[in-house]
Amino acid sequence: MHHIYPSDITDHRSSGVLEIAWPDGSVGHLSHGLLRLQCRCGGCEQRRRSGTLPTQADPAMRLVAIEPVGDKGLNLAFSDGHDRGIYPWPYLYELSSGGSL
Ligand SMILES: [Zn+2]
Repeated sequence: MHHIYPSDITDHRSSGVLEIAWPDGSVGHLSHGLLRLQCRCGGCEQRRRSGTLPTQADPAMRLVAIEPVGDKGLNLAFSDGHDRGIYPWPYLYELSSGGSL
């Protein structure tokens, strides 16, 4: 799916859930803590390979900023200070539809 683009994004900060609606009618509910674990930036990939990335989501983890990256996806910043994660739309769609979450 090359041109997937969300139809609506709602951040439920108090419950820590990012809700994303897609044009095909599906709606993903992505927990902030799990999104943090799914970060694909270079640093997290390195920690994942070396086995030092936590495998349990922190329920207190929160998104503190959601910035669009052109029309490609979102740059998510988290309450632990991590703000380098770029989440392309196809990746968010995959996470929404249950993929690795
Ligand atoms: Zn990262």
